Amino acid sequence: MNANAVEQRVFNFSAGPAVIPLSVLEEVRDELLCYPGAGASVMEISHRSKIFTAIAADAESTLRELLGVPDDYSVLFVQGGSALQFSMVPANLLRGGGAVANYLVTGAWSKKAIAEAKKEGEAVAIFDGKERNYCDLPSVNSLQVSADAAYLYYCSNETIQGVQFESEPVCPSTVPLVCDASSDFLSRPLEISKYGILYACAQKNAGPAGVTVVIIRKDLLARGEASLPGYLNYRNHDEAESMWNTPPTFAVYMLGKIAKWLQNDVGGLRAVEVMNEKKSSLLYQAIDESNGFYRGHAAVDCRSKMNVTFNLPSEELQSKFIADAAKHRLDSLKGHRSVGGIRASIYNAMPIDGVEALATFMKEFASANG
Ligand SMILES: *Cc1c(COP(=O)(O)O)cnc(C)c1O
Repeated sequence: MNANAVEQRVFNFSAGPAVIPLSVLEEVRDELLCYPGAGASVMEISHRSKIFTAIAADAESTLRELLGVPDDYSVLFVQGGSALQFSMVPANLLRGGGAVANYLVTGAWSKKAIAEAKKEGEAVAIFDGKERNYCDLPSVNSLQVSADAAYLYYCSNETIQGVQFESEPVCPSTVPLVCDASSDFLSRPLEISKYGILYACAQKNAGPAGVTVVIIRKDLLARGEASLPGYLNYRNHDEAESMWNTPPTFAVYMLGKIAKWLQNDVGGLRAVEVMNEKKSSLLYQAIDESNGFYRGHAAVDCRSKMNVTFNLPSEELQSKFIADAAKHRLDSLKGHRSVGGIRASIYNAMPIDGVEALATFMKEFASANG
């Protein structure tokens, strides 16, 4: 990367595809024309070559180490984004089974997920935060999960609303817990053994678009019917070690590099959690100390450490905020069209300098316009 390109980089608060660590981009740049030993770019070699299978195996083992994935879980790399998981989960766990799936509908993404599940079988929302415009979450201890439910589904971090579960919903041991962790994957340690399936598309916190990680307890692989379209059956991806068809090789390569960055440069998930706590506190503090100028969307005890959502007193000020922020190289702060307002996505790779710059800007903007 020439110095000029680095200088042109903004503090990127995009919700996804999102910021990637500069050191990773630099490494990728250095290897782009020729991956060491390959005589070609990683994009130009067979997914079945020794070099690429080693890259994929390394990405998987780094993820396993970071998250402490137990041996009775498979780690799959698939395509189709998280949106395809909205369908693959019920296609494998609900279709033809006669049981009912339980869903926590806590925002835009879980709402889309239950709509897809209803195409495969019976799916019931045992919580729906719609009346309060998805600003809060149910208490994880008081859920009425059916003991014979096909699974309990939730989204750990609603990227659009900016609400995040602090801990997993409590669920009967007979019921697999399924989690869409797309926007807080690798942001904190997790106890994988609590989950039946946990999945995340990479382009929020773990890489570029194109690859989705599915961590699945192996007994659940048996649940997909043989009549499923081949790509939709988790078992096929497991048996083929994520090479049932051509995987998104470049995205897998980058995911591996980002996992390595987390492990070696950041110091693991506990360390990144501390950092994420610190970064998000800076912005919530700026909201709370603004005398009501900024109004946070999420209830205080449900605030996301990844996506900080808030509104300003008027549409006009909101537009001015976004335009003025851009002059300070604070980019992509516009909230999702369905919620409006401002959204600052502060994933792992957002440097603390960027968050500090935004917090300072927020204070200055409020005093100048409040
Ligand atoms: C972005 C996102 C999705 C959708 O991901 P795609 O890869 O675009 O299908 C689903 N769930 C959550 C929580 C997300 O943040």
